[in-house]
Amino acid sequence: MRKGAAMAMTDAQLETIKAQFATLKERSAFYAKKFADIDLSDVRTQEDFQKLPFTDKSDLRDAYPLGIAAVPPEQIVRIHSSSGTTGTPVIIPYTRKDVEDWAIQFARCYEYAGITPSDRIHITPGYGLWTAGIGFQLGAERLGAMAIPMGPGNTDKQLQMMQDLESTVLCATSSYALLLAEEIAKRGIKDNIKLRKGVIGSERWGDKMRARIADELGVELYDIYGLTEVYGPGIGINCQADSAMHIWSDYVYLEIIDPDTGEVVPDGQEGEIVLTTLQKEGAPLIRFRTHDLSRIVPGPCSCGHNEHPRIDIIFGRSDDMVKVKGVNIFPAQIEEIIRFTDGASSEYQVMIDHLEGRDIMTVFFETEATGEDLERVEKQMAALFKAKLNMTPVPKGVPLGDLPRSEKKTRRIFDNRY
Ligand code: ZN
Repeated sequence: MRKGAAMAMTDAQLETIKAQFATLKERSAFYAKKFADIDLSDVRTQEDFQKLPFTDKSDLRDAYPLGIAAVPPEQIVRIHSSSGTTGTPVIIPYTRKDVEDWAIQFARCYEYAGITPSDRIHITPGYGLWTAGIGFQLGAERLGAMAIPMGPGNTDKQLQMMQDLESTVLCATSSYALLLAEEIAKRGIKDNIKLRKGVIGSERWGDKMRARIADELGVELYDIYGLTEVYGPGIGINCQADSAMHIWSDYVYLEIIDPDTGEVVPDGQEGEIVLTTLQKEGAPLIRFRTHDLSRIVPGPCSCGHNEHPRIDIIFGRSDDMVKVKGVNIFPAQIEEIIRFTDGASSEYQVMIDHLEGRDIMTVFFETEATGEDLERVEKQMAALFKAKLNMTPVPKGVPLGDLPRSEKKTRRIFDNRY
């Protein structure tokens, strides 16, 4: 591989893509229209492939309800839907094979995390239109473990079942795992908890939060990756050797692009994850822009599974970037600064306002500090922002537990300017 080059598409991936392309326009009215001016038989190399236009969430939204389907309706056994923050949701149809493939991938995730058929998997993500809970369930059943399908909410019942059924694996969002960890500590029931692993739905979360959850629950943590448009959670997970997530190369082709130019970036460089499905029947996706930011982690993994490339933990979303006082800021940068501030806890919330002609960014963070101590913590945080991002926000410490926790992904940046 050339230095500074992007990872090569494997021969198997190229052959699979070419085979798909031979019939794609016949199967999919969506792609027949999208690629109307493109002869897909001209796509013979990775370079050719990289010239194809991206598929974006807005394309899928425009195809509502079932315009994305590439099979006759009688072959669809299930649909899922991704939450639409802007009105029309996206509907993804699944064939029987798609559901099975998803289960195979999810079971592989559990295996990479060292989870076995003798584990008891406590599943707190929601069941229903979105893919979370049911994916964790499918994988557990495929693996042969005991699934405990809790769904979200009702902390009392969660903790009761966790003790009575001796759950060994907790599946949750990071903020819900933290809430449960805090509750277990508060009730003094840690000795009754048998958890040994946590599988956390991919979400940008700081090392500080990770350390707190791992410590308080006494578990090893794994990040699972995925999105409803591409099966759901379960298309990749970190292994026991490292924190980077392996992405299943037999099911998806992975690219990292510069979100501004759309060019594929060299391995190691940060950018937006773009995925192409290799096996999907119901809703095949070609060069789907996830808007998740990460990077390919170059080099071999000591677990030896180098057939599956690795990505770093998700840094944020390309549409989460905010521009304040002319500076582009990503949530991950804010988290890093909070992590380096002595006395600041991992929970935070950012408010951006426009007052009297200027941008004001207020960073609320949880801390035990009060009085002069608190002033010192706030001062240090402001200085770190100045040093790292060349802008100064207004840091405001609040007592531990003051900021909202949620069972779904927690929104932390609120831009009130527009
Ligand atoms: Zn590995």
